[in-house]
Amino acid sequence: MGGAAERLLQEWGTTIELDFARMPDTGKVHVVFPEPPRWAQGDGEPIGTAADAALTARTSMVCGLKLRLEAQGGRGFFLATFPDEQLCARCVKGLGRHSVRAFEHPQPETDHDGA
Ligand SMILES: [Zn+2]
Repeated sequence: MGGAAERLLQEWGTTIELDFARMPDTGKVHVVFPEPPRWAQGDGEPIGTAADAALTARTSMVCGLKLRLEAQGGRGFFLATFPDEQLCARCVKGLGRHSVRAFEHPQPETDHDGA
C-alpha cells in the first residue's frame, strides 16, 4: 500500500529525516511515521506546546503500530544505530519506493566472524 508515509517522503525528500524507535518487547526497530518539517507546519503555537504536541503525536510507526516512547511514560525509545535485520519489515514496506531510506542509518560495530 503506497501509503501516506511514502507520499510525505515523495513530497519532502531528504528534508524529512527518518527517526527510528525500538520496541523493547520484540527488539524490532520501527520507522517513526515521518512528519513534514516544523517550519512547514504553520506557527502561532508557543514553542513548548508545539514541541510537546509533536512529541505526543509521534507515537505512530509507519507499519501502523502505536508505540509509547520513554518520554511519554512508555518503554519504546528512539535510536539511531542498529543492525538492518532488526528493522520492521512492514515499516520498510510502508515507505514504498523510499524504503531505501530506512537503511540509511549507522550500523553498530559488529564482528561478523560469528564463530
Ligand atoms: Zn513497524
